[in-house]
Amino acid sequence: MSARDGLATPLEGVACEVYTVPTDQPEGDGTFAWDKTTLVLVRARAGGREGIGWTYATSACKAVVEDLLAPAVEHVDAGNVPRALEAMVRACRNVGRVGIASCAISAVETALWDLKARLLDVPLAGLFGPCRDEVPIYGSGGFTTYDDATTRRQVETWVSDWEIPRVKIKIGESWGARPERDIARTRLVRAVAGQSAEVFVDANGGYGRKQAVRIGRQLREEAGISWFEEPVSSDDLQGLREVRDQVDADIAAGEYGFDLPYFARMIEQEAVDCLQVDVTRCGGYLEWQRAAAVARSRSVDVSGHCAPNLHAHVAVSVPNLRHLEYFHDHHRIEHLLFDGALSPRRGALRPAMDAPGHGLALKDRDAAPFRTA
Ligand SMILES: [Mg+2]
Repeated sequence: MSARDGLATPLEGVACEVYTVPTDQPEGDGTFAWDKTTLVLVRARAGGREGIGWTYATSACKAVVEDLLAPAVEHVDAGNVPRALEAMVRACRNVGRVGIASCAISAVETALWDLKARLLDVPLAGLFGPCRDEVPIYGSGGFTTYDDATTRRQVETWVSDWEIPRVKIKIGESWGARPERDIARTRLVRAVAGQSAEVFVDANGGYGRKQAVRIGRQLREEAGISWFEEPVSSDDLQGLREVRDQVDADIAAGEYGFDLPYFARMIEQEAVDCLQVDVTRCGGYLEWQRAAAVARSRSVDVSGHCAPNLHAHVAVSVPNLRHLEYFHDHHRIEHLLFDGALSPRRGALRPAMDAPGHGLALKDRDAAPFRTA
């Protein structure tokens, strides 16, 4: 069968599996705490090939995939991912696109792109068309639940062992009730990372507007932070703009964007210096590129949010990419579950160009103990 025939093949099946992986220790940020992570995996098949995609969300996504999305795409040709995306979005009209449905759509959509690339026997980055060879990353973790020794070890691993010159920790502990500890921990990170690394902080919406301005200025002065993520709630666009106007560090948000209007509002309100977009939430690769285009129209950069092995191939395809979040939990999970998971080299990820699709395969035996549905 030729590649052309393969692309004209109707999808043969979309299946869904759920894996739940405990964290290596209790984790928390300014406004949330967790001890496990759920990965919802989708397998899409056509023409004797299988593509995989996933979302980090809830097992409820499996019901959305099986009840709504799989029937919506069953007669779509494997090569026509935009049509499949549109069919899935329409199938979710009455349950609401935003939230769980968009995470489920993202898992299917990313699996379909992987499948298409495998049918064509090309790397996914090659199918999208790369405008760069690699993706700068930043080390991300530094949970508020860590003691200083743990934070120190993690930052040393990122900067010294993995040569990542950008690191991010969580602040805004207990909804902004422990600012002295936030400041002390950020100072520690600067001391460990050295003067040449960039230090980022993420408050996960834990502060009020004026508190965020005060702490942002102090952290800029005392620890030289260059990135202040969600200083206030990402739903408070006016608040983000006010902090942005008064703090020198770049303001970032966007990880909870589930559709294009969300990103358009954030850009129109001039709420951020860099727009974060999560391919496992926004609707998949095509919507990720569209969100990047919305940002590009106002000369704003984008940063990929977590899921590094899903983002790497699409992140090289947009000109206004700043970097990709290399999140501690997802580094662990993706290396645990997938053969072909990428490792940082000199502060960047380089998508594999010598394997079809995104080059990943589920390690069935290693993954089996974590399967929950
Ligand atoms: Mg964040």
